[in-house]
Amino acid sequence: MTLEQAAHIDLHMHSTASDGRLSPQALMTLCHQRGLSCAALTDHDTIDGVEAAAHQARVLGMTLVPGVELSTRWQGVGIHVVALWHGTAQAPMMALLERLAQARHDRALEIAARLEKVGLENALARAREQNPDARLLGRPDFARALVEAGLVPDMTRAFRRYLGAGKTGDVKVHWPTLEETLEGIRQAGGVAVVAHPLRYGLTRRRLGLLLDEFTELGGEGAELISGYQNDDRSRDLASLLVKRGLYASLGSDFHYQGGALAPGTLSSVPRSQLVPIWQHPRLIPAFKRP
Ligand code: AMP
Ligand code: MN
Ligand code: MN
Ligand code: MN
Repeated sequence: MTLEQAAHIDLHMHSTASDGRLSPQALMTLCHQRGLSCAALTDHDTIDGVEAAAHQARVLGMTLVPGVELSTRWQGVGIHVVALWHGTAQAPMMALLERLAQARHDRALEIAARLEKVGLENALARAREQNPDARLLGRPDFARALVEAGLVPDMTRAFRRYLGAGKTGDVKVHWPTLEETLEGIRQAGGVAVVAHPLRYGLTRRRLGLLLDEFTELGGEGAELISGYQNDDRSRDLASLLVKRGLYASLGSDFHYQGGALAPGTLSSVPRSQLVPIWQHPRLIPAFKRP
């Protein structure tokens, strides 16, 4: 299947294992209802939902590609890397995930301390209250705590004032570097994909630098389309990826129902010479129909 025909593939989605609102099972059922034949679950820094999603996918006759969206840092920017692989996660991937669990823990303490300074008392306990399943804490838990405490009217404002890029609660120092992350993915036999390249607010020149370094460090793919995207920017991104020989991936970055996005919601794919990620030699077996 060519990239342009990929109407029933979504390789970037979240479940309740991280900050999504649907359980892995319910997410797969929704994917199936929406006519997807192939999906990847890519929760933030955890694969806790993958087994349940894979089971449900099998029941529904769908293909579930195991994956994760890893938090990294590069030149002071928080960059997300999607890793996809075939079969069970290997030891180096588990080591990376343990490292990220510790990083999320340490980061939560620091975010809490910072939010207490701007008036959110008992910030850590309040964030934990938003997270009854005891997942790893994320910024959305702190955002909800800020809303509950009445410091902001809604999540959008919580990010805009306190947690978004460059704000006091945007703490990145704990994340592994891009280099360490790509090394871990390589050792685990996975394929590394730059998540939503157009969503870091990088200039075209810095995005080029990121893609250069990513490729030099062994990264092999990038999301050509992430949810809704401007067609001109998609075309330009395609040319940046072609230049570096990267494979193209696609995903909605779906988190919850009722918003603008659903599983499989993607802007149109520009014509290009890019090779789809499902044709990557190490991933071909993962994409086989059940
Ligand atoms: P974390 O991985 O803990 O740093 O949290 C980042 C997550 O917060 C992203 O993956 C989004 O799901 C969510 N997020 C980021 N910005 C916003 C925003 N402006 N409004 C709502 N949620 C956001
Ligand atoms: Mn998220
Ligand atoms: Mn992301
Ligand atoms: Mn995501």
